[in-house]
Amino acid sequence: MDLLSTDLITQMTGDQLDSLLEQIRTAESRLKAIQVELVREVDRRQIPLGDGMRTLEDWMIGRMDLTRASARQLAAVARADSAALDSLLAAGVSFDRVAELADAGETDPHLEVDLPGLRNMLARRTPVQRADEQAAFDARFLAIQPTLDETSWNLWGKLTALEGKQIAETLDRVADDLPEAPHGHRDSRATRRADALFVVCDRHGADKGDTSPATPGVPATVFVDATDGPSRPGAWLASGPRIGPSALERLLCGSPIDVIALTEDGEPLRVGNATTAIPPATRRYVLWRDGGMCTADGCNSSYRLQPHHIQHRTDDGNNQPDNLTSLCWYHHHVVVHGRGFRIDPTSPTRRRRFLPRSNSDPPI
Ligand SMILES: [Zn+2]
Repeated sequence: MDLLSTDLITQMTGDQLDSLLEQIRTAESRLKAIQVELVREVDRRQIPLGDGMRTLEDWMIGRMDLTRASARQLAAVARADSAALDSLLAAGVSFDRVAELADAGETDPHLEVDLPGLRNMLARRTPVQRADEQAAFDARFLAIQPTLDETSWNLWGKLTALEGKQIAETLDRVADDLPEAPHGHRDSRATRRADALFVVCDRHGADKGDTSPATPGVPATVFVDATDGPSRPGAWLASGPRIGPSALERLLCGSPIDVIALTEDGEPLRVGNATTAIPPATRRYVLWRDGGMCTADGCNSSYRLQPHHIQHRTDDGNNQPDNLTSLCWYHHHVVVHGRGFRIDPTSPTRRRRFLPRSNSDPPI
């Protein structure tokens, strides 16, 4: 990096100064990580002895123009020979902090100490100042934005330590209460947390009498591109996002819905109507017949119970009770409509099994 002119420095904003200092500190730590490796190798080859020096520290003082204190620190980190300390340096933790840990002998070189463990140890040795807390509080945000093609949404943000921990623990607790996916399918903790976040918001919406299109009983309008043909069913919700075949199946399954097919010019071609939804009497009968419980084998949840079309509406499945089975929110929205598992029609009425999932559309 070229040296900065005084002029340039005086023109920098406070944020720019701060950010540049942070970049330098990180770069410094990475260089230190390399220095530690090299010193370790010097020690291993006993180069100081060959040079007639009594100790590694003496060699470094002469050879590298270090003070005794700095030489002692560097030797301590090199000799700790701890992968965890090395990765702290590589991650940009300052050398002074890492040296402090090595010095305190808090890392056993023969033990694999994990990075989070070391971060904890480091945190314990660094008191949190009121200013740090204030900065963390002021920096809180949660950004929720659709991707450009609107196939998904991104979430990211920053929270205070207490908030972050509480939210993570709550989501984990909600996730643990969700049923298991069939066929030994295991979702990652991160995926389960995403499901849990939806459940928490959905419950809150239900408490407030929310009337989103996904809420049963509330008609939604879907525009279908009639020129796309059945192999590429593209659809738009009246309220906005473009959806694909899975989301269309999900909507047709759950709610009374108006389907409007559009020509190439955007003119309505065919107009379906909400009467294609499950008649309320049939819905009530199916929920009663299934004992007010999810019919998935082993599940006894009654959360957001909905009649599901065993043969999907988009495959000409009808609204007869034989083609309907009660599923809880998780089995209906996550397992069936999200993951693509289908109900095995030959499985017992109250103990529904799922067919192995297929992500491809059925052949036409
Ligand atoms: Zn269930």
